[in-house]
Amino acid sequence: MGRELWSADVVYGGIGAAQGGAGQGGAGVAVQRRPDGARTVIAIDSLARLRQRFPDAVQAGHRSVLAPAPVNAHTHLDLSDLAFSPRRYEDFIHAVIAHDRAGRRGLPAVERGVAELRAAGVRTVGDIVTTEAAMARLLEDPHFSGVAYWELIGPDPADAARLLAETRERLLRFLGWQRPGGMQVGLSPHAPHTVSAPLLQGVTRLARELRLPLQLHVAESAGESELHRHGGGPLRQALGPWLPQWQASGRSPVRYLADLGVLAARPTLVHMVEVDEHDVALVARFGCAVVHCPRSNRALGCAVFPWSLYARHGVSVGLGTDSRGSSPDLSPVAEWRAAREVHGAAASPAQLVWAAVKGGARALGQRAETVRRGDPFEALLAWGEPVH
Ligand SMILES: [Zn+2]
Repeated sequence: MGRELWSADVVYGGIGAAQGGAGQGGAGVAVQRRPDGARTVIAIDSLARLRQRFPDAVQAGHRSVLAPAPVNAHTHLDLSDLAFSPRRYEDFIHAVIAHDRAGRRGLPAVERGVAELRAAGVRTVGDIVTTEAAMARLLEDPHFSGVAYWELIGPDPADAARLLAETRERLLRFLGWQRPGGMQVGLSPHAPHTVSAPLLQGVTRLARELRLPLQLHVAESAGESELHRHGGGPLRQALGPWLPQWQASGRSPVRYLADLGVLAARPTLVHMVEVDEHDVALVARFGCAVVHCPRSNRALGCAVFPWSLYARHGVSVGLGTDSRGSSPDLSPVAEWRAAREVHGAAASPAQLVWAAVKGGARALGQRAETVRRGDPFEALLAWGEPVH
């Protein structure tokens, strides 16, 4: 019996700001040990304040991070058999198309991804789904919450009405497979250049009508910006046969989505590295959440996510691993570590822990897991280290 004090570089209970980080002298958790050995959280605060409040508490140990399980807010489980290989973004897109044509995005790949996520301690996930079998598999999964986003690709405006009607019928069926507490159905128009303007607008209306969360890849590569602004560049070369109708809007991908009315539906925007301050201000004004995938961006030679710009505009940022084709694993803790490396002093470890937990939950429209006074101490995980 008695009180223990656990210290950590960062402690987060899923409420408010994460505690700790540079200049704050560390954070801590005060724990009451009961006669039966059970341990209960009695306070989460700065280490200095906890020492004042609980001078009799025994220092029990130190961990890097004590927080709920981090969220993987963006992945593609059906690409779990695509070998990780750093390469140009355009070469990666070709590799995905070839992998798809070889029929390697089936359930076995999804199962490997699911197993990897579970081994990484993930409980909440945002996954991009391309087959009905994978949708059924994820909606019946007993362990995960989050969103299974049905992916739509349709660059030819002539296909928009047909694709929209098919998608509506599919989604109504998927909604019948949802279970309370399980994953939810969402919708993912792939990217602003692989989905035609009328289809993007139709999908936005459909998501509103069926109250579905939206997620799309935006502003990922320099080639995407070039394609939207001037119509040419490496992505146009790479996707030429698939984009015969493409006409550049002359605007950034973010501005294009805003003008089409897509941002008004508050989609979650993934990558968002090729942005300027006008783009970020637009995203902030519409209240869209963003998902940051630092290892995927690095592997595909994309730009560095402008963390400080998003922080200055108060945009909610979560973390995602993207697929195994552009990420060495599906662990959000590893993604968090990579984000620390990439951003250095620009992002505090506490901000990044907040992003991995609360930012990820917000990106998926979910409540973040919380650990508060009275909860078992074991509800806090020591990220990437042995548990308490
Ligand atoms: Zn992706």
